[in-house]
Amino acid sequence: MPKRSVSEAEVRGKRALVRVDFNVPLRDGDVADDTRIRAALPTIRSLLDRDAAVVLATHLGRPKGKAVPAYSVAPVARSLSKLLGQPVTTVSAVTGPDAERAASALHPGDVLLLENTRFEPGEESNDPALAAALARLGDLFVNDAFGAAHRAHASTVGVAQLLPSYAGLLLQREETVLSRLLHEPERPFITVLGGAKVSDKFAVLEHLLGRVDALLLGGGMANTVLLAQGHQIGSSLAEPDLVDQARRLIDTAKARGVRILTPIDVVTARSLDSTKATVAAVEAIAADEAIFDIGPATVAQYCEQIVGARTVFWNGPMGVFERKPFENGTLDIARCVANAAAYTVVGGGDSLAAIEAAGVGERIDHISTGGGASLEYLEGRDLPGIAALPDA
Ligand code: ADP
Ligand code: MG
Repeated sequence: MPKRSVSEAEVRGKRALVRVDFNVPLRDGDVADDTRIRAALPTIRSLLDRDAAVVLATHLGRPKGKAVPAYSVAPVARSLSKLLGQPVTTVSAVTGPDAERAASALHPGDVLLLENTRFEPGEESNDPALAAALARLGDLFVNDAFGAAHRAHASTVGVAQLLPSYAGLLLQREETVLSRLLHEPERPFITVLGGAKVSDKFAVLEHLLGRVDALLLGGGMANTVLLAQGHQIGSSLAEPDLVDQARRLIDTAKARGVRILTPIDVVTARSLDSTKATVAAVEAIAADEAIFDIGPATVAQYCEQIVGARTVFWNGPMGVFERKPFENGTLDIARCVANAAAYTVVGGGDSLAAIEAAGVGERIDHISTGGGASLEYLEGRDLPGIAALPDA
C-alpha cells in the first residue's frame, strides 16, 4: 500500500521535521562518501522550494545513547551545506530548549540539522518522552530514512505517531522498486546473492525462492550450500550447522522448478595473505586451501544468466573483493550486471563498494541506500518505519 507522500503535504510557512539517513562513513573528520546525503536532497529541496523550513534528524554510527564527539553530525552539516549551496545551522542537542530555540528561529527556506539522534538513550528504545520532545520541533513529520526504516526508534516510529506524517521521496522510491521486485518482476527474474555468511541471508533466500527464476550464489555464503551438495571445501568459511537447512532449500527449489546455481570453479589460497591463488574446479579443492572468490568459468556461466534476464537483484560480493587477487569475480559480475539490458537493482553496503570499485554505478537502475532495510523488506517483513506512516 503506497504511503501518503510529502509531495501532497501542505507545507508553506511550516516547519517540517525530516528524518533522514545520513549515517555516512567518516574519514579524518570529514564525510568519506556522501551518497546517502545526496539521496535525500530531492525531499529536502522539494520542501525548501515550497517555502517550508526544514529540521533534519539523523543517526550516525553507534554511540549507544551517549554524546560521543566522534559521532557528532558536524561533518555531515558541512557536506550538506555544500551540496545544497546554502548554510545549514547545527545545534548541539537533539531536543530540549536549545533545539527548540534553533527550530523556532528558522524562516521559510532555512535548514537546521539536529545532533545525532543516537546520542539520546531514548532513541533506540523508542521512548515516548523523546518522541514527544522531537514532535515539538516540527509542524509535520517526513520520514525519508529508508536505511533506518527497519528500526522502531523514537525518530522513525514514535514521532510519526504524534505529528501529521508523510513519506519522503527517497523512501517512496525505495519502497516502489523493492515492492516491484517482490510482487511484479519482469521475468526471467534472477537474484545474485553473495557475502560472508549464509546465516545473514537465509531468510532472504527462502523468501525470494518463491519469486525468482534462478538464484546465483557466490561469496562465503555459497560455501555452506556447496557443503550441502556434498563438496569438499577445504578450510573455507562455512556454517556446518546450516547444512540441513541448505539441503531443504535445495529440495524446495527443485520442487518449484527454481534453479540454484553454485560456483563450478573457485579461486583458492592457503590464506588471505597468500599471493599464490589457484583456480580450481569445485570438485578439486585442496584440503588446506580456502575459497576466496568465484572462478572465471562461474563468472561466464552467471553472466550468461544475467544477460538473459529481464530483472536482476544483486546483494553480496562474490569473493573477498577487498583483497587482491580475490576481486575479479565480484568486479566482473558488477560489470556484467551494469551491461545487462535487464532492470537492475543492487543493495548492501559492501555490494555498493564493489559497484563503486568497478566504476559502474551510473549504469545500475536502482542502488538501494538501505542495506539491512532492503534485505528485511525482501524477506517479506513489514518495516516499522514505513508501517508507522499513513496510507495514501
Ligand atoms: P553486503 O554488505 O553487500 O550485504 P556482506 O556484508 O553480506 O555484503 O558481505 C561482504 C563480505 O563478505 C565482504 O567483506 C567479503 O570479504 C566477504 N566475503 C565474500 N566472499 C567471501 C569468502 N569466500 N570467504 C570469506 N569472506 C567472504
Ligand atoms: Mg556488509
